[in-house]
Amino acid sequence: MAATIIDGKQIAADVRAEVKEGVTKLREGKGVVAGLATVLVGADPASHKYVSMKRKACAEAGIESFHHELPEDATQDEVLKLVASLGADPKVHGILVQLPLPKQVDEETILDAVPLSKDVDGFHPLNIGALAMKGRDPEFMPCTPHGCMVLLERSGTEISGANAVVLGRSNIVGMPAALMLIKHNATVTVCHSRTKDLQATVREADILIAAIGRAHFVKGDWIKPGATVIDVGTNVIDDATRKSGKRLVGDVDYAAAVEVAGKITPVPGGVGPMTIAMLMANTLRAAEKTA
Ligand code: NAP
Repeated sequence: MAATIIDGKQIAADVRAEVKEGVTKLREGKGVVAGLATVLVGADPASHKYVSMKRKACAEAGIESFHHELPEDATQDEVLKLVASLGADPKVHGILVQLPLPKQVDEETILDAVPLSKDVDGFHPLNIGALAMKGRDPEFMPCTPHGCMVLLERSGTEISGANAVVLGRSNIVGMPAALMLIKHNATVTVCHSRTKDLQATVREADILIAAIGRAHFVKGDWIKPGATVIDVGTNVIDDATRKSGKRLVGDVDYAAAVEVAGKITPVPGGVGPMTIAMLMANTLRAAEKTA
């Protein structure tokens, strides 16, 4: 039997509607208008597109957005000064520095400069540290892996006690996803480029989160029948049948996996829409903490 499709677009729309309600309540009840500052350095077209999507989502949720652009040749000091001024601005509850940054600007230094209370991306080492510690809760969790957790929860996937396998160990997806699964009492294995016999590990997974950035890497027959598959991968491949000549696919061979899995996210329309929804949720949370 084909898997149930986890509709990320619908779940993200639900989260955004809930955020909008929370934003309205905060404004009407406490007079606080939630605000998100976006910092864009350079002219990367993809970064410009992502930031404009985030600002549009803010407008839809009733969140005020404060947009700042710096040129490609901006110095680290200039970016730091901007982040510091946003850190001190009471109207700004969340600060989002769009990555990647130009090479002369050190990403780590900039992300460390975002005050913990405004770290709506959840990338601050203290937030990741709290995520890793028993009995501690981070102020904010990184948006994409948090979105994966919401997809698991809202699709009715049992996380506690499940064997979960995470493919990828990046700071922004794989590692925090693994930490969140542990917090939810899953037994977690993290695979990466040096993992031996990755297929055998994947076959044991009740929950698979694939975040490696390799088109159709996970084959259908690697998947345990009935497993829940969350595909974070976004890979562009050639497709002559499309007008654009290109198509977006995940890290999982969806056509084969859908026949084996119990639940699965499509690409596009799975994890993708959740990232912005969770950013909106984090911004509301940041604003609520100041009220
Ligand atoms: P990344 O920083 O490049 O990390 C990739 C991870 O995959 C690394 O841990 C790497 O292992 C591992 N890996 C690479 N090739 C592998 C292989 N052949 N076998 C096993 N492991 C392998 O990527 P990322 O930023 O986490 O992103 C991963 C994917 O998610 C990308 O397709 C990205 O576009 C997508 N993404 C989507 C969203 C969204 O939908 N909103 C957000 C973020 C990312 P090593 O650590 O050993 O190098």
